[in-house]
Amino acid sequence: MKFSDPNSLKNLALTGPRLYTFIKPHEFRYNTGILMKTIGPELLPLAVARLKAESTGWRFNSYNERPQSVVREIENFIDHYLHFGFNYRSPGSVKINFSQAVQLLDFHEAAIYYARTLAQKALKSSPREIRLGPNGTWLETLPATPSYAATISAGEAMRFKRAMYIFQMACALFPDDLALSRPLRPVMLRFFQVFAPWVNQQVRCIETMFENHLYNVVEHANDVASEDHGVRPFTSPVKGHLAKFVVSSDLETIYREEMAGALPQYLTFVATRRPALPRYRTEVCLPIHDKGWLIRDGATNNYSLLTQHLTQRYLENDSGPFDAWFRTLIEGIVENPILRRSEGIYRKCDMCLTKWGFVFWDRAKLDYQTNWSLPTGEAMKVMATGVLFDDEDMRRASVGRQSGGCDCDRPWDRS
Ligand SMILES: [Zn+2]
Repeated sequence: MKFSDPNSLKNLALTGPRLYTFIKPHEFRYNTGILMKTIGPELLPLAVARLKAESTGWRFNSYNERPQSVVREIENFIDHYLHFGFNYRSPGSVKINFSQAVQLLDFHEAAIYYARTLAQKALKSSPREIRLGPNGTWLETLPATPSYAATISAGEAMRFKRAMYIFQMACALFPDDLALSRPLRPVMLRFFQVFAPWVNQQVRCIETMFENHLYNVVEHANDVASEDHGVRPFTSPVKGHLAKFVVSSDLETIYREEMAGALPQYLTFVATRRPALPRYRTEVCLPIHDKGWLIRDGATNNYSLLTQHLTQRYLENDSGPFDAWFRTLIEGIVENPILRRSEGIYRKCDMCLTKWGFVFWDRAKLDYQTNWSLPTGEAMKVMATGVLFDDEDMRRASVGRQSGGCDCDRPWDRS
């Protein structure tokens, strides 16, 4: 018996005792089969973890009354759901009932929609303009972008989907400003350290892209309305408020509103509920950025740029994300003439790099985008050998980066 929809299978089981006794014993196996096909073995562990994280309900009920027990619950959650040692390939190894399967599939639909939408927009914010192929309408005198650089690869699409899942999980687990202080902060750090620093940067990029996307949906609706009637009927959300809204809401609800064409009305409604949002965080990721992953000498307080512990722990199938992350990390810290060639790209303001989603792309695409000026990860590791730096050096490097070029005014969303 083959079904692709757990809901119809459940309804079928409920039509009578005979079918129920036939279907019910196979519930987990059916569901695993469907989920493996739709969500896939790579994302399924994260999908299950996301559902579990959401079921804590902390987005709606602040956890300030019993923070110590919440810490224990999150510790258990990480131990149980985020060690990624499960064999998800064998059907029946995940025990998911029909209603959970429906929830997983519904969320996945929203996640892939936004992963695809944001990836396409990020690609358009690349440093080099993407020119369409022969069927496009670009000037024939200029060469078209090769297809590997103009399209999103399967690996890149997977990274966007994964970031979407982690982003939502972090919103569900740490929605509150309280997460930044003790006793929750250490467990929050532990959660983010489950993932590579470049994956955390991906999640950080996703959050900003998502906010920009929502903002632009409202702006676009206002443009259309004012062209027709000369009025702007929707309140454009204030950016800081929008950040809190994104953390407080679940992706599926936002997706449903957007698909129904009701997102501008919805966000206008939310804007009027502003007083309900103050406790929510504005940033999903920890404000420690990359430091939490680097090796620090306790005696001198200096960080090193050793990365072997990272590349061994966080395996990737393409060097692009690591290379891009490491390039920005060493900008302003490691001095080497070879790095200057790619300075124009990696000394951009944070927002420019974020909108491009600088840590998402395959190495081949980075080569094209940087005009083959980005050194290999191995070459950069050699340059960084023996370099030590402290918090002040890091602060100075990040300020230096802000002074680089910026083309944030370039439209991000409209084409
Ligand atoms: Zn910029």
